Amino acid sequence: MTSPNWSLVLHGGSGVIDRADLKPEQDRAYRAVLTQAAEAGSAVLRRGDAALDAVEAAIHVLENDPLFNAGRGAVFTAEGCVELDAAIMDGATLEAGAVAGVTHVKNPISAARRVMERSPHVLLIGRGADAFAEAQGLETASAGYFFVEGRWKALERQLAREGKPIPQRPKDADTDERHAALAHDEGKRGTVGVVARDARGHVAAGTSTGGVTGKSWGRVGDSPLIGAGTYASDRSCAVSGTGEGEYFIRLSVARAIAALVELKGLSLQAAVDQVIQTDLEALGGHGGVIAVTPDGQMAWSFNTSGMYRARVADGQALEVSIYKDEP
Ligand code: ASP
Repeated sequence: MTSPNWSLVLHGGSGVIDRADLKPEQDRAYRAVLTQAAEAGSAVLRRGDAALDAVEAAIHVLENDPLFNAGRGAVFTAEGCVELDAAIMDGATLEAGAVAGVTHVKNPISAARRVMERSPHVLLIGRGADAFAEAQGLETASAGYFFVEGRWKALERQLAREGKPIPQRPKDADTDERHAALAHDEGKRGTVGVVARDARGHVAAGTSTGGVTGKSWGRVGDSPLIGAGTYASDRSCAVSGTGEGEYFIRLSVARAIAALVELKGLSLQAAVDQVIQTDLEALGGHGGVIAVTPDGQMAWSFNTSGMYRARVADGQALEVSIYKDEP
């Protein structure tokens, strides 16, 4: 069998996502946006453009949609702000860029890409990263743009449980909640990620997240850390993770999967299952990954009750799934 000319896999976060928890309209809304994101990415690949462009285009759709914990709809810190993390990596060159703790970049994945392409660095954080993105002419957004009522309620519940004070709501909070009201609380977290393989056989990966609800002290998870939540190499595969970042960092999840493919010759599915179902599980962590190889293998694996996910390849139908009992 010849491998497909291009392939794309995406996730919209893993966590507590049980069939019984999602109303039919929520289920439909999530599947619609996952489809839209997969179509945005595959349109780029179908034109013959780079995997990197497909990753960025698909992540924009997910970042701009309030259902996902990335960009608009990101979870709140204990201080009632958003602190966004993102990373992107080009498997052809091993170039990578990332930002952590940005507060007013509309699309953090594009900030990560600018770090990769227009700075000598890999990772910029906080105020400096925001200033860099602005200097690069990237679109900014106010605190109100990112605001989603359901995420705020999740913060209030969490802070009440922890006996911490509830901060003031952002003043210009966007009140159009019709679509955003469909957001499901996956249990503190969520993330979006895309991996792609283009017609030239290059792979790329990108991940974008608000992190975890109620985070403090400048907490940063795995998503913007190359090798932990994001990794891409044409010698092995491209990987994006979602889950308890602290465990993903300790296991270098994304790079560990790439190493199993590159150095041990495991199939992509065997490699993702080894790291998620065996290693992450043994350490007591929860989450999932998506991955793609330069020869067109696509895989996902997660040990949570669900993971928003989709995959599509040249000549193959788009598959969109949410729960564990789906393919
Ligand atoms: N991995 C993300 C983090 O720890 C959260 C998630 O994917 O649910 O920041």
